[in-house]
Amino acid sequence: MKIAVFPGSFDPITIGHVDLVTRAMPLFDEIVVAVGVNTSKKYLFSLDQRLEWLRQVFKANPKIRVDYFQNLTAHYCQRIGARYLLRGLRNGSDFDYEKTISQLNHIVGGGIETVFLIAQPEMSHISSTIVREIITGGGDATPFIPKEIQIT
Ligand code: ADP
Repeated sequence: MKIAVFPGSFDPITIGHVDLVTRAMPLFDEIVVAVGVNTSKKYLFSLDQRLEWLRQVFKANPKIRVDYFQNLTAHYCQRIGARYLLRGLRNGSDFDYEKTISQLNHIVGGGIETVFLIAQPEMSHISSTIVREIITGGGDATPFIPKEIQIT
C-alpha cells in the first residue's frame, strides 16, 4: 500500500493545494492531507476550521484522508506507515527550502522519499500567504479558494 502524506499549514486551503493532490492521486493508493501543528506559529484560521475545510473539499474522494499532527513530519509518517511525502514546487525558493527538508526527512524518517510535483503555470502564483493578505485586506479571495468552501 503506497501511502503519501501531503503536509502543510493549509491556512487556508487553496486551489493550488487541490490541484497538486488531484494530480498526485494516480501515484498513490492513499494520500493523507495532514495539517502540521506548530505551537509557536500564528495562524489566521483555527485548526478546527482548517480541518473542516479540508474534509469538505476532499469528502467525495475515498483515497484521500484528512488528519493533523504535532512534532516531526517524518515521525508522523512512520507512525501511520507512509513512506512518501508529497510537496509542490512553485519556484526556486520553494526548491531551495524543500531540498534541505527532504534530505533531512530521508534521514530522520528512515528512508522516506519526498515526491515533488511542479506547480501548473496557472497555479504557481497562488499561495496561502497571498490569500491571507487578500482576506485581511478586505479583498475577495474566491478565485483562489476551492468552490466547496466559503470564507466569510
Ligand atoms: P507550508 O506551511 O508547509 O508551506 P502550505 O500549506 O503553504 O504549507 O503548502 C503545503 C504544500 O503545498 C507545499 O508543498 C507547497 O509547495 C504546496 N503548494 C502550495 N500552493 C501550491 C500551488 N499553488 N501549486 C502547487 N503546490 C502548492
